[in-house]
Amino acid sequence: MSAPAAKPKPRLNPVRVKVKEVEPSQRVKGFGEVIIPYTREEAIAEAQRCIQCGKPYCNEACPIGQDARGYIKLMAQGNFDEAAARIVWDNPLAECLGKVCYHFCEQACTIGKKGEPIAIRQLKRAALEFGKTPAPYDAVPKNGKNVAIIGAGPSGIMAAWSLGKMGYDITVFEGTKNLGGLMTMSIPGYRLTKGTFQKDLERMKNLGIDYRLGVRVGRDKNFEDLFNNGYDAVFVAIGTMEPQGIKIPGTQLPGVLSALDMLININTGQKVTMGKRVAVIGGGDVAMDSVRSALRFGAEKVTLVYRRSREEMPASDDEIAETQAEGIEFMFLTAPLEVLGKDRVAGLKCQKMQLGEPDESGRRRPVPIPGSEFVLDVDTVILAIGQQPSLKGIPDIGIVVNKKGVIEGDPETGGTKQPGVYVGGGASVVHAMAAGRKAALSIDKFLRPAS
Ligand SMILES: Cc1cc2nc3c(=O)[nH]c(=O)nc-3n(C[C@H](O)[C@H](O)[C@H](O)COP(=O)(O)OP(=O)(O)OC[C@H]3O[C@@H](n4cnc5c(N)ncnc54)[C@H](O)[C@@H]3O)c2cc1C
Repeated sequence: MSAPAAKPKPRLNPVRVKVKEVEPSQRVKGFGEVIIPYTREEAIAEAQRCIQCGKPYCNEACPIGQDARGYIKLMAQGNFDEAAARIVWDNPLAECLGKVCYHFCEQACTIGKKGEPIAIRQLKRAALEFGKTPAPYDAVPKNGKNVAIIGAGPSGIMAAWSLGKMGYDITVFEGTKNLGGLMTMSIPGYRLTKGTFQKDLERMKNLGIDYRLGVRVGRDKNFEDLFNNGYDAVFVAIGTMEPQGIKIPGTQLPGVLSALDMLININTGQKVTMGKRVAVIGGGDVAMDSVRSALRFGAEKVTLVYRRSREEMPASDDEIAETQAEGIEFMFLTAPLEVLGKDRVAGLKCQKMQLGEPDESGRRRPVPIPGSEFVLDVDTVILAIGQQPSLKGIPDIGIVVNKKGVIEGDPETGGTKQPGVYVGGGASVVHAMAAGRKAALSIDKFLRPAS
């Protein structure tokens, strides 16, 4: 008997349905969104490119394990309602992630090996746009246990949502007047439009999460009091809200801004004073958002100063491409030496660098070229060097700050030295959410050991 005919392999289409953008000359005029969403037809065509791998590399690459393969299959059949329902099932910040996720799934996509990976982030967004938005979650019978969460960023929100759905009473203490952490406070409107987060929040409204805004633990409320106030467990999700400095002379001068403060002030409608000739120091995504925001804020010339080369830049490729298209000058292999000026910034003294041997980060170390100093003619310097957590008022319970500046507890559970206290965050929204979910599961195990 002849062997059964092998199943024909699906034909692989290596070319993505183009993700369109507003023309650079137009978009730099304001903070309007850059990406143009797919139409329904475009989304179906892109979803039909997916070959539905037997092993879902995309799902596995996602820190929260979103079933991308599953919802893309539904979209390919035109079933947007079920696709949307599947997305929000395990993702309380799906609307936001459809716009700002660093899409680790796309990096793992099999088609990416032969051509352009499936535009999974853009498809997630289309599913929620064209699918019937799932109704808010039903209220859940309470289980009598109370959990306090410190910080209403993606990590705290993921934990609140996960525990709220299990019947826990949740109180979230947030030091600022905003929900959403750095995600909503600092990501500019041209990437994350106002109102996106509200759609996510709406779905959680029946879970009875009590948000106490403007209450900073360690300043307005004692950490130690939380257990006396009837909380059975605590999740510390305080993120990385403190800008890091740089050790060069002149950073105290008026006209030197912290990138984080500037982005938060622009986003929350507070006053920002910026000159016309701006240098941004740094090479990560925050630096990209700073140069792009400065341009939109009226700067005439914006220069990015980065001490390594394009290859070592930690910013994502998407962001670098969008930034370069907007006409920003990238000055690679250039290190700042001193901010010049008497009463305010009058220039930035720099030095050219060359790459030496790799350092402990694995990237080639920048080495100064003697005699290559020069002065950049700028009136504003923005420092986008990185952020760190502020542990002020949080007792020493074994919170670790890892190499990325992110707070961690026990790698398996997120636990700390103090029973019932968990900790977590992430260098991306989806990683922060994964940490929030890990903590929620650990808290549930701690409070209901038999479950
Ligand atoms: C400019 C910029 C752009 C970014 N772009 C992207 C992007 O495109 N995609 C992406 O995935 N990630 C991006 N990120 C990273 C992402 O925003 C963070 O990884 C994520 O927000 C971390 O979440 P978190 O919950 O751990 O902490 P955070 O978002 O930092 O939230 C912590 C919260 O805790 C509060 N808090 C701190 N201390 C206390 C206290 N003692 N008491 C009460 N409340 C407290 C803070 O006010 C804050 O609201 C960006 C970050 C920045 C700065």
